[in-house]
Amino acid sequence: MSHVLSDCEVRARKKHRCDQCDRAITPGTVYRRVVHTYDGFFTYTAHLDCESAAQHYAEYHDLGHDDGVHLRNDIAREDEGWLIPIFPEVARRLWPDRIFPEERV
Ligand SMILES: [Zn+2]
Repeated sequence: MSHVLSDCEVRARKKHRCDQCDRAITPGTVYRRVVHTYDGFFTYTAHLDCESAAQHYAEYHDLGHDDGVHLRNDIAREDEGWLIPIFPEVARRLWPDRIFPEERV
């Protein structure tokens, strides 16, 4: 059984990897860090907007709290419609090669 030891928002002093988008959390960025035990210690780290996007995804797809959303694996092109307007920076991290309509010249 998993047990949460700490769950807080902290400012990165070094580079981390976001467990939602799999991109870098750069030094100086405030991010969420959860340390928990489950057959050992595990640390979950995520950009705050990735956290919000994952919660939005779970609500949009009517998922429960325990379904464990991982944006990088779970989000699909069909989610662009709500993700891009609400969480444009998350969309840029998930699809870095995509040209956004407002950036076309
Ligand atoms: Zn992220």
